[in-house]
Amino acid sequence: MKIAVYPGSFDPITLGHLDIIKRASKMFDKMVVLVSVNTAKSPLFSVNERVNMIKEATADLGNVDVQSYEGLLIDYCKNNNIKIIIRGLRAITDFEYELQIAQTNKMFSNGDVDTVFLTTSLEYAYLSSSTVREFASFHGDISRCVTPHVAQMVYSKYGYKDSEKIGGNEDEQ
Ligand code: ADP
Repeated sequence: MKIAVYPGSFDPITLGHLDIIKRASKMFDKMVVLVSVNTAKSPLFSVNERVNMIKEATADLGNVDVQSYEGLLIDYCKNNNIKIIIRGLRAITDFEYELQIAQTNKMFSNGDVDTVFLTTSLEYAYLSSSTVREFASFHGDISRCVTPHVAQMVYSKYGYKDSEKIGGNEDEQ
């Protein structure tokens, strides 16, 4: 059975992440979306909230499992007999960082774990969790960036009750 893991912060999961998950889930027998617990970052959403949002967004994909993990990714891979890591590439700016991590994981797993890169679909090339957070914090329209459920969750973090009156214009003041 070919199992792959797609690790990330997913704070929150975007349509760009979802696109990678859907495409990768067709390539492997099973896929684990792994929310990394990164103590260096202070996330908007708790690990549980992020796991639940991803579960909701991937409910229709039968071979996708959602987990969280605190520790080294290669240890998670070793413990779960996973040999493939999925990462997404948006632009050349992602490349240097991703290459370094992929090579480090390859080396520290003694060559056991490889990283497979999927390039972003063009319509999501601009999209990141941080721009979603930034936009939502000013009540900007994030409906083309995340699922409706995630949009509600993000808006409520910033104290916006209705996601219909969006745009962050003068009416807000
Ligand atoms: P991390 O903090 O590990 O980079 P992210 O949640 O930001 O976690 O991203 C997880 C993975 O998804 C990374 O490989 C990232 O490059 C990829 N990714 C993020 N946004 C997109 C997108 N719009 N299209 C394709 N891949 C993406």
